[in-house]
Order: sequence, then C-alpha cells, then structure tokens
Amino acid sequence: MDLPRMLYTLQKIELDLMAKARRLQEVQSSLGETEELRAARTALEQSEAKLRHWQTQQRDLELKIRSLEQRISTSERELMSGRIRNPKELKGMEDNLQALRHQQQRLEDELLEAMVSVDEWKARRDEAQATYQDTEARWRQDQAELSAERDQLQQEIAHLSAEREQLRGRLPADALAEYERLRQRRGGYAVSEIQGGACQICGVTLPLSLVQAARQGDGLVYCSSCGRILYVQD
Ligand SMILES: [Zn+2]
Repeated sequence: MDLPRMLYTLQKIELDLMAKARRLQEVQSSLGETEELRAARTALEQSEAKLRHWQTQQRDLELKIRSLEQRISTSERELMSGRIRNPKELKGMEDNLQALRHQQQRLEDELLEAMVSVDEWKARRDEAQATYQDTEARWRQDQAELSAERDQLQQEIAHLSAEREQLRGRLPADALAEYERLRQRRGGYAVSEIQGGACQICGVTLPLSLVQAARQGDGLVYCSSCGRILYVQD
C-alpha cells in the first residue's frame, strides 16, 4: 500500500471510529428506563392507590352500617317488648331510634358513593395497567435492540482501533505528523480523493500533471486549492 492510500485508509478508519463512538454514546444514554415508562408506572400506582382508598372506605362503611343495624334492631325489639312504660323514657328511645335511622341513611348514601368510586377506579386501574404493560413490552424490545447494538458497536470499535494502531505503526512519523496537522486545520479531512479529475472535498478541477503525480503514488501530492493530500483510487 502506498503512502496516500495508507493515509486515506487511516482517515476512513478514524472517521468511522468517531461516528461509531458517537452512536455508542447515544445508545448508552438510551439504555435504562425511559420517561414514558416511568410515567406509565406512576399512573398505574396512582390508580391502584385510589382504588385501595375507595375499597377501604367501602369496607369501613359496610362495617359501620352493620353495627348500626344491630343497634337499631336492638332498640326496636326493646320498644316493641312493652317493657318500657314511662312516656318520657319511651319518647327518648324513639328519638334515639330516629337518630340512628338518619345516621344509617347517611352512611348508606356514602356507601353508594364509595361503590361508584370503586367501580370507576377499577376501570381506570385496568386501563392504566394495560397501558403500562404495553409500554413496558415495547420498552423491553427497544432495550434488547439497543443492547445488541451496543455490543456490536463495541466489537466494531475494538476491531477498528486495532486496525488503526496497526496502520499508524506502519506509517512514517513525518507523514503521520503531516496527516495530523492537515486533519486539524481542514475540518477533520486531511486526505481527499480525486474523482473525475477533481478534488472530491473542495470540488476544484485539478491540473492533469497533479492528477498524474498523485496516481504514481510516490510521495505526497496536495490539492492546489484546499491543500489536502490527494489520493487516487485505481
Ligand atoms: Zn481540494
């Protein structure tokens, strides 16, 4: 391999390495939980908490109503037993029974409200659960693809780095220094290919003598316009 070809190959490897390193960074930052997944989980947890709250309310109210019913039937039995004769005491018991019945009515209204809320939050929980499962399945799929891509990129980067080191080891120090200098001053591109008699990067049509000199491949030939090392593919 002649010098321009070696430098051109090195440039290709290094550009490829940079692109792959950038992609690897992107992939690595996309690994892990996404905002969407977290939001879906939070929505599910919130609907579960609401459902539990209303279920507890319902059970509490049912218990309160049951114990109230017992007190009411005890009072009713007492009243109907005929044991209480004192009108004042009788009136007191009737008033008390009336108050218990009002209380029972109020608790039954609350129970109805709780039952409606339980149904409503069950539906919302089911919906949130379906959304979460769907989101989680898609996320898993994405994560699997991303980690496969990460592994692939890491392998390719290791391979290219080895190739790069090997090539750099074979290049003369002055040619390497020249390559580095141009790369820094010419936007990362030190070598340009000649295509159709023109410099591929700056587009200028090159004198035939320059094209011929570049084709011979002994020593470095530079673009008359952008100053990059010229390379001709056979
Ligand atoms: Zn040029």
